[in-house]
Amino acid sequence: MSLTVLMNAGPWLSVPPPGYGGIENVVATLVPELRRLGVRVVLASVETSTLAAEERISVFPDGQFAALQRPYNQVCGIAQAHLAGVVRAVRTRDDIDLVHDHVEAVGLATLAAMGPDAPPALHTLHWDLAKHPALYGHLDGGDRVRVNGVSASQLARAPRALREHSVGHVHLATPLAVDADRRKPPAKGGYLLILGRVNPGKGQDVGARLAQRLRMPLVLAGPVGPYHRPADLAAAGDEARQNPDVRFFLDEVAPHVDGDLVRWIGTVAGQERDDLLAGARAALFPLRWEEPGGTAVVESLALGTPVVATARGCLPELVEHGRTGLLTTDEDELADLVSAAGRLDPDECRREAAARFTPAVMAQRYVELYERVRATAAAA
Ligand code: UDP
Repeated sequence: MSLTVLMNAGPWLSVPPPGYGGIENVVATLVPELRRLGVRVVLASVETSTLAAEERISVFPDGQFAALQRPYNQVCGIAQAHLAGVVRAVRTRDDIDLVHDHVEAVGLATLAAMGPDAPPALHTLHWDLAKHPALYGHLDGGDRVRVNGVSASQLARAPRALREHSVGHVHLATPLAVDADRRKPPAKGGYLLILGRVNPGKGQDVGARLAQRLRMPLVLAGPVGPYHRPADLAAAGDEARQNPDVRFFLDEVAPHVDGDLVRWIGTVAGQERDDLLAGARAALFPLRWEEPGGTAVVESLALGTPVVATARGCLPELVEHGRTGLLTTDEDELADLVSAAGRLDPDECRREAAARFTPAVMAQRYVELYERVRATAAAA
């Protein structure tokens, strides 16, 4: 296939990301598979990115993530400077067939404003959009700019202007799903795991109370605000409370963390993360928000760990109740489900992941969407 895609990963983190990094992880998972399918990829990112691509362009020497904590106008300034670089690249060459953009809101608006001579663009939505209608409420890119979601539920909740420009959804993928069905089944420990940012939406407080009530060990893994290790949070003192996720952790979760039954271990990465997830009796997602894409959900399945969750956001699309996990709309029912999760078959989870959540499946689907976006733009 002779298709050249400018993949805009944004200026915030290098690709692949050094640790946490949702969007950058998606790009790092997608690009190698696209290239395997014959797509030429021009990666717009920062200079420290190491992901292989036919070409790379960047405005900033390294990731500007820390600036996201600064005032809004500085954040916009960085995003705009990066996007100006992308626009310049698109304007000064004629080989870009399509721009695949991942930069929230400003990216889409900029691409939409580029006019009818610019190449068609597909923007992937990464957030729960129902909360931010103003960001996208006035999109008008004509027929040249289209969006896709990371789940059907995310799109269903999105503002109308976005739904009208949508070409569908593509579920998130994980390299852990490759040959997941052929690997040795994991040895299961007796603990539950919540893997993710500590945040009210992710519901670590619900999980901690549940574990105490059931007397079942629970491991909480993930950063609390900017703090990746318990020692760093302890050393930060009162100033740390300025961060809302820190306040949530200290006020709602920490009272149930006894270091014995319920533990917060900070951010885990690499093999340590995979082993922890594979060894869990169940991965718990006691969600209070509409999870848009759920990378940690597909990772759990790929490692043979059933999911126990509130049926919010994309969860019912990713998890089959009774086979790969147990879902409920009633938070009080989670305790019963946790007790029943031991009866689910880890192999079913791994088979499901190997069939649905591999990078190859995701890339194939994106190529279909690229063709659809190009066809719509050409017909206009
Ligand atoms: N993650 C990790 N270590 C941690 C906590 C999370 O590597 O200690 C990873 C997790 O495996 C997943 C990503 O961070 O790949 C979180 O993505 P998800 O879509 O689940 O949640 P988000 O934070 O993007 O809402």
